[in-house]
Amino acid sequence: MFENKDNSSTNIENLGEFGLIDHLTKNFKIKQKSTVKGIGDDAAVISCNSKKEIVVSTDLLLEGVHFDLSYMPLKHLGYKAVVVNLSDIYAMNAEPTQITVSIAVSNRFPVEALEELYAGIETAAKQYNVDVVGGDTTSSTTGLLISITALGTVNKGEAIYRSGAKANDLLVVTGDLGAAYMGLQILEREKEVYKVNPNSQPDLEPYSYLVERQLKPEARKDISILLKEIDVTPTAMIDISDGLSSEILHICKSSKVGCNLFEDKIPLDPQVISTCEEFNLDSTTIALSGGEDYELLFTVSMEDFPKIKANPHLSVIGHITEEKEGVHLISRAGTKIPLIARGWNPLKKSED
Ligand code: ADP
Ligand code: MG
Repeated sequence: MFENKDNSSTNIENLGEFGLIDHLTKNFKIKQKSTVKGIGDDAAVISCNSKKEIVVSTDLLLEGVHFDLSYMPLKHLGYKAVVVNLSDIYAMNAEPTQITVSIAVSNRFPVEALEELYAGIETAAKQYNVDVVGGDTTSSTTGLLISITALGTVNKGEAIYRSGAKANDLLVVTGDLGAAYMGLQILEREKEVYKVNPNSQPDLEPYSYLVERQLKPEARKDISILLKEIDVTPTAMIDISDGLSSEILHICKSSKVGCNLFEDKIPLDPQVISTCEEFNLDSTTIALSGGEDYELLFTVSMEDFPKIKANPHLSVIGHITEEKEGVHLISRAGTKIPLIARGWNPLKKSED
């Protein structure tokens, strides 16, 4: 049992996930010349030789917190566990090269189940051209745990950090937002229906895009290639794992800037719009706070606008301002609303 000498204790909820990380890691000082970037971005950057840098990122997925095996097939889980890590590597403008996979399993899982998990991992490794080079296996008394570490490489000096955004830069997002969260709502609803009537056959066809975005997300490996083709270098970049608002706030905090985000510019798939109506949810709130989109969010110099404006993969959704102007959503009606991080926070007792 942990005992605090002076009997004081602070609830981790008071700090939140990011506050907790800051608090626990604030005393770590970089000692190695080769550590180019330590804690605080999508991945760490380590210099390797005079031409290349290595990026490394790790993520932990825990049953009951990050996934529910009653609707998440193990094969998809394996695939998704790899993809969410690779997304962080792409967010550094790097190319993933290797992963390690660590699992903790209970005897609830037969070998065949774990084979399924690994079939998904193998499919993703093939799809993204990465080698599985190690990991660790241990027993768990409760649920399944998967931790994946991804490594990648980037040309020296070409890594893109959260910290490079400048006032007047444009804020750009790839793809569309909110679908993975709505996919989760659909799957949760079907789970409840199934509990009451196990013979019911769900018709998921009208929600196919949403369910696919939740169960089989892809990382944007095409974007660094696209940006090279159109000769655009982002000034800052991050991937969208926790929701648009949380990621905008990360860029603004790291870059010491403000931002205006325009509600009417946020890209939404028609299935997101119609399903939000069905669930009586506000689609902007879902795009801002839903998470698990694994799209890329980046800033570019205003001069690059002509190169990106007509690109179907890219949406300009706002612009960067001076820090003192704050971080705001400009609503369709023109009202300025302060943006707050409502990203899903596992350290909170309940979601709000
Ligand atoms: P992401 O959402 O991109 O995966 P996180 O919010 O998990 O990023 O992490 C932010 C930063 O904090 C990263 O640099 C990550 O490596 C670091 N970090 C997260 N948890 C810990 C921890 N327990 N100890 C040390 N560093 C951590
Ligand atoms: Mg990230």
